[in-house]
Amino acid sequence: VTITTIYDADENPVELPFKWVICGRCNGHGHYNDHVYTGDEFEEAFPTDEDKDDYVNGRYDRTCESCDGSGKVKAVRTDLLTAEQLEAYEDAVEDEAVDRAAMAAEMRYCFGPMY
Ligand SMILES: [Zn+2]
Repeated sequence: VTITTIYDADENPVELPFKWVICGRCNGHGHYNDHVYTGDEFEEAFPTDEDKDDYVNGRYDRTCESCDGSGKVKAVRTDLLTAEQLEAYEDAVEDEAVDRAAMAAEMRYCFGPMY
């Protein structure tokens, strides 16, 4: 998730200038398959030509969660921001990272190993 809105000193939302860039995770495809098969595994998983075709056509790919399948992501034009905006933006990105880490920790707590 790319942050494109920050809040000024009066808590008013400020839309930041951004551009669309090709998603680095799926290289713009919108989906990817990160499973690397060995030759044998591949034969086993896709025994028929039809299965192989499906694989080649991306049927087994999963939707890229970075870009939600659109193949592009927003990139804030940090070069166009004022110093204050840049600072607020960096803070927002940091907050988001902290939120995510907290969420991930919570997930581990809920779905952690059972004793
Ligand atoms: Zn993507």
